[in-house]
Amino acid sequence: MAETQAYTAISEALKALGIEAQNPGTSTGSKSMNGGSLLDSVSPVDGSHIASVTQTTPQEYEQVVQTAQEAFKVWRLMPAPQRGEVVRQFNEELRRLKEPLGKLVSYEMGKSYQEGLGEVQEMIDICDFAVGLSRQLHGLTMHSERPGHRMYEQYHPLGIVGIISAFNFPVAVWSWNTALAWVCGDVCIWKPSEKTPLTGIACQKIAARVFAKNKLPEGISCLINGDYKVGELMTQDERVPLISATGSTRMGKQVAQTVGARLGKSLLELGGNNAIIVTPDSDLKMTVIGAVFGAVGTAGQRCTSTRRLIIHESIYDKVKNALVDAYGQLRIGNPLDEKNHVGPLIDTDAVKNYQKALEKVVEEGGKLIVEGGVLEGEGYESGCYVKPAIAEAENHFEIVQHETFAPVLYLMKYSGDVDNAIALQNGVRQGLSSAIMTNNLREAERFLSVAGSDCGIANVNIGTSGAEIGGAFGGEKETGGGRESGSDAWKVYMRRQTNTINYTTELPLAQGIKFDL
Ligand code: NAD
Repeated sequence: MAETQAYTAISEALKALGIEAQNPGTSTGSKSMNGGSLLDSVSPVDGSHIASVTQTTPQEYEQVVQTAQEAFKVWRLMPAPQRGEVVRQFNEELRRLKEPLGKLVSYEMGKSYQEGLGEVQEMIDICDFAVGLSRQLHGLTMHSERPGHRMYEQYHPLGIVGIISAFNFPVAVWSWNTALAWVCGDVCIWKPSEKTPLTGIACQKIAARVFAKNKLPEGISCLINGDYKVGELMTQDERVPLISATGSTRMGKQVAQTVGARLGKSLLELGGNNAIIVTPDSDLKMTVIGAVFGAVGTAGQRCTSTRRLIIHESIYDKVKNALVDAYGQLRIGNPLDEKNHVGPLIDTDAVKNYQKALEKVVEEGGKLIVEGGVLEGEGYESGCYVKPAIAEAENHFEIVQHETFAPVLYLMKYSGDVDNAIALQNGVRQGLSSAIMTNNLREAERFLSVAGSDCGIANVNIGTSGAEIGGAFGGEKETGGGRESGSDAWKVYMRRQTNTINYTTELPLAQGIKFDL
């Protein structure tokens, strides 16, 4: 395969990141020198084969775990603020390499260059957060019921944190986990998505350089590559006390069972089915911008993408017409070209799922009001570019209940008061992100109340996507219940210990129990 224009544009970025991409267009399914089969990194932007990456074998995995265990013995003894200093240096490197890494994210995954840069910015933000956190891993002290006794809680690192990540946020999700886990004193083994292995290698190289400069063992940050079978090596491994897994609900159910069977801890960040409620008191302009960005941003491949719009019947036609107009202005094409709003889906399997969803919604009685379709011709050779679609649908349709990872937006009406809209919003199996567009205080507060949204994220006059790192991120029900990123999410990466110290010459028992010899 000849090097395409987009490939040439990325080769400088690869060089800056220290990755040598060899032989575009070669090697599928053959074996590498050490016996692991090769994984191809193919860009959905133009179908270019960027490079092949060796899949980790079970023997190599053993070595990685031993390296991580050895590194943990060193890392856990380093004072947390000093670990924070290493994370600060890692962050300096991210700042320096923001553009090439953002470009690689865009090219390997297919999101827009702006979103690629945004993803690296999220890494930078969480590292800043983690540096401050390294001086705030506080435990509580409590008053003992016994005289001359002191009680307090302290937090210790867990050991190895296994990170399994999805293709759509190929670098940010790793850093949400790893920046916090590192300052907590853990070491990490990361299995990135098999669809985006190169961004994983780029991040590992950056981390390895920083650890080497500080004369610290590289095993503090480990990388394994491959598909779900490589992930299973970690989920089954009792030496990995915490598995943080991001991906589909289907994957999360398997991971939860495997990790649960060995009584390990899992932190699950799974699929969403996010809705915006549009009330009669909403601002139409803000609603349209929020809904369109939420539905078509990252080509509908965000866990927080807007999938459903629940619109009051009194304004339904007005909102619908404004959306159809806005969709008419969308530019679809190479995500490295900043003029385009929508890039490709990750691969042609994702395109098939998108097509099936459009067929299914019509079969179930829905109506397409912005017809989709797969784009062909110049610039669309990868076969991964689709037109964002809008369908009128009912919440109970099977396809609406299901997360389709593509730019398909379902419109539905509600009548009466906001409780009816909230019931529809909550009437799905997932519980990640939700939003209400309203200038009515009563409706907004009702939506945020205990009788309101059942999601992990509930926004007012903001769309469903685009969370900040300062808050805890995650969702309920089939979204898995995990929380990552800001707030007190760090606690999941540590084990809590309650300590009671007796500084008297007596040994009184709790609850006043008498035991005299
Ligand atoms: P996926 O479930 O196909 O794969 C995710 C990761 O899990 C990959 O690394 C894969 O190799 C691994 N994996 C799959 N089965 C496994 C198993 N049995 N054991 C161990 N590892 C296994 O998901 P995807 O297509 O890469 O990503 C899209 C999905 O991720 C969507 O459902 C999206 O909503 C979800 N997602 C959720 C969040 C969140 O924070 N809630 C964030 C990003 C993506």
